[in-house]
Amino acid sequence: MAKGKTFAAKLAHEISTHGKVICPVCNTEIKRVKLITCKKSKADSWAPNYLFKKICKCNEQDILSGKY
Ligand SMILES: [Zn+2]
Repeated sequence: MAKGKTFAAKLAHEISTHGKVICPVCNTEIKRVKLITCKKSKADSWAPNYLFKKICKCNEQDILSGKY
């Protein structure tokens, strides 16, 4: 059935692009990554600090080299 096939193809397309964000500047997918850094608190203890960053070609070099 052509009708059913069309529907399946459309559905697959929507799933594959769900949640994807393409950067308008570099035209690559923007990925969300979780970075874990350590922050020294006033009590002299190190606490893990979680950061969520969006990475695309524009900033991946900076983030991967520790500048964020
Ligand atoms: Zn970009």
